[in-house]
Amino acid sequence: MSKNKAILDEEKQHLADASRVKYFDIVIDHGQGAIITDADGRDYIDLLASASATNTGHSHPKVVAAITAQAKKLIQYTPAYFANTTTAALAKRLTALAPGNFDKQVAFGNSGSDANDAMIKFARGFTGRQYIVSFIGAYHGSTYGALSISAVSLNMSRQIGPLLPGIVKVPFPDQKQRLPNESDDDFSERLFKQFKLPFETYLPADEVALVIIEPIQGDGGIIKAPQKYMSLLYKFTRENGIVFAVDEVNQGLGRTGKMWSIDHFGIAPDMMSIGKSIASGLPLSAVIGRTEIMASLAAPANVYTTAGNPVTAAAALATLDVIEEEQLVMRSKKLGLLAQAFFSQAAKRYTFIGDVRLYGLNGGIDIVDEKGLPDNVATTKLIYRIFELGAIMISLRGNTLRFQPPLVITEQQLTQAFGMIEQAFNELASGKLALPETDNHIGW
Ligand code: PMP
Repeated sequence: MSKNKAILDEEKQHLADASRVKYFDIVIDHGQGAIITDADGRDYIDLLASASATNTGHSHPKVVAAITAQAKKLIQYTPAYFANTTTAALAKRLTALAPGNFDKQVAFGNSGSDANDAMIKFARGFTGRQYIVSFIGAYHGSTYGALSISAVSLNMSRQIGPLLPGIVKVPFPDQKQRLPNESDDDFSERLFKQFKLPFETYLPADEVALVIIEPIQGDGGIIKAPQKYMSLLYKFTRENGIVFAVDEVNQGLGRTGKMWSIDHFGIAPDMMSIGKSIASGLPLSAVIGRTEIMASLAAPANVYTTAGNPVTAAAALATLDVIEEEQLVMRSKKLGLLAQAFFSQAAKRYTFIGDVRLYGLNGGIDIVDEKGLPDNVATTKLIYRIFELGAIMISLRGNTLRFQPPLVITEQQLTQAFGMIEQAFNELASGKLALPETDNHIGW
C-alpha cells in the first residue's frame, strides 16, 4: 500500500469530514518554492498557492530563518496582554502598507475569518448601526460572522442556520451579465441599479454599518468588478456614512499584479482584512483601518490569545521583505502575462474553454459545454488529469479552473505546468479522459 493511502485511511477515522474540502488523495510531506512532495516522494507543481497561503513559495529560506530566530527568542506571550517588539514592528509596517493617506491602526487575528468578523464589529461600533451588506459569490470565512456575510457554498451553511441577522446580500457585478456591446460604464450603471434596489424598497441606507466586498472575488471564480461600479459603490458609501471595507485575504499581497486588489480601482478603503499569505502560511490575520473606526471599540472587544503571535509576526515581516526584495508584485504581473497568453491561445484551439480571466498570477478559466454552459464533469476530468501529470490545480464553483501558483514560481516551472495543462486539454478534446474513481466531491 502506498504511504499516501495508509496515512489517509488512518486519518479518515480521526478527522471530521466537515473540516476538509476534498480533492486529491495525497498527503503532503514537504514543499520548497513552487514544488510540493507527497508521502510517496512524488513532486507536484503547486498551482494553488493562494489557497494554501504561500505567495512566497513553500518554506522560503528567509521566512524559515525569521521563524527560527523568533522561536528561539520568544514563541508566545499573548500580545493582547503585553507588547513584544516583533508584533509592534509589524503593526507599524502594516499601517504604512495599506492604501490611503490617513491614520490607520491594526487589529490582529488568527485567520481570515476572524479578521472579517472583526470588521463587522468595528463597523457596528463606529457607526452605531446594525445592517451589513455583502455580495453573492463572496467567501469571507467559516466562523459564524464571516460565514453569514459569505454566499458561495450551500454545503457550508447547511444544517447550521440561522446565520447572523442583519446581513443583506446583493448580486456581484459579474461580467457574465454584461450584454453584447454594452460599455463598461453602461454595464456598471445597470448593475448598480440592482445594488440600489434594497435601499429603495426596504433597507434604510442610514441604518447600514458596512459594505464589504472582494474587489476581485477569489473563491467565487476570480471575477473582477468593473471600474465604474466600484466608483459608484464607493461614492454611495461616502454619501450614506457607511464604512467601506475590502477583503484582501485571498487576492492581496501581490497576487493580482498589484499589492492589493483594491489598488486596481484607485480606492482607499476604510478598512481591509488580510490573512493567508501574510505570514507565508502561519496563522496570522489583521484588520487595517482608519484610526477613528478602529478606536471606536474599547478594550478588550476583539482579543484572541495567539492573535499577532510573535513567531507569526516574524514570519510576516520576513514575508514582506521577500515580497519587496524579490519584487513579487511585479513578478506576478509579468508572469501573469505569460499565463494570459497561454490560456487565451488555448481558448482559440479548444471550444470547451470559455471565459479566461487573469489578473497577475491569478486566473479563473471557465470550462463549458457545446452550448457554452458550465461543464463540471469536463472540469473534474481535467483537474484529475493535470494532477496525474504532476500539477495541483483545483476548480472553483464547479467549472472554473483556479490558477494561483506561488509568486516565486520560475519561468521553467510555469512552462512545465502549461505543458501538463495543454496535454490534459488535448486529451479531453480527443475524448480520452474519464472521470476519476473517487468519492471525493470537487471543491466547495
Ligand atoms: N476571505 C477570503 C477572500 C478568503 O478567500 C478566505 C479563505 N479562502 C477567507 C476570507 C477565510 O480565511 P481563513 O480560511 O484563514 O479563515
